[in-house]
Amino acid sequence: MTEYRVGIMEIIFLGTGAAEGIPAINCNCSHYERARREGGKLQRERNAILLKLPDYNMLVETPPNTRGLINKYQVADLQGIIATHSTFSHTGGIKEFEYWQNHLDFLAEPGLFKAIYKEHWTERLEKIMFHIPYFPGAALHFGHFHMIPFAARRHQPIFGLSINNGEKQIVYTSSTPNRLTNYARTLMTGADVIIVNTPTFKTPKEDHITLVEAVDLKKEVDAGRLVLTAINHNNRPHDELEEYVRQFPGVTVAYDGMKLEV
Ligand SMILES: [Zn+2]
Repeated sequence: MTEYRVGIMEIIFLGTGAAEGIPAINCNCSHYERARREGGKLQRERNAILLKLPDYNMLVETPPNTRGLINKYQVADLQGIIATHSTFSHTGGIKEFEYWQNHLDFLAEPGLFKAIYKEHWTERLEKIMFHIPYFPGAALHFGHFHMIPFAARRHQPIFGLSINNGEKQIVYTSSTPNRLTNYARTLMTGADVIIVNTPTFKTPKEDHITLVEAVDLKKEVDAGRLVLTAINHNNRPHDELEEYVRQFPGVTVAYDGMKLEV
């Protein structure tokens, strides 16, 4: 079990790429060619985040390369997994947990769980996972902290999360479009950190908020810090993004292995 430290939460970005990862297979654009050649922060595994919360380590998303990520970052102490999507890029690695040695909570909204169950669930998983349903707008209390999921899409079950631990607040918007609900905007107002999936640099892009729009969102909701993640070739390479965001205080471009204490 994680030792409880008042007000401290740790975020570890295991993967910071969008659905296809960087470099994606079979794309020879200059962004991916550079990533193949130079490696380092230019390469991104698909999106996954480990949240070290008081007495509860929670994995957000289980992309298809989950086994590699768990081994790379030596994740052994885990209490729960939370799903925000049912798509392959976000949940395709759930079956890796068939071989996990302990019981795990599996947090998913009922409609989302139904989709994941149909696509990915197995008898072995059933023995390891205990499904805990979450509902948008309803707080889930975990003793020292609480979590409020919110709907990020109108027609697809995709959810963001707001996590409060004492005075500290982290918001993960997941794959939200720029048109957030008024509810979600209120929820994230004044958050210490907002983590936003931005595959694309700038408009036109309707299904995901763009990097440029996310920078505006940080200002609108008066968040202390913005972390940009889930990036692909519609966005810029890591070094160019770092250069771009330097003009905005409190804006960070995530890279694989990045750690953040809140
Ligand atoms: Zn490409």
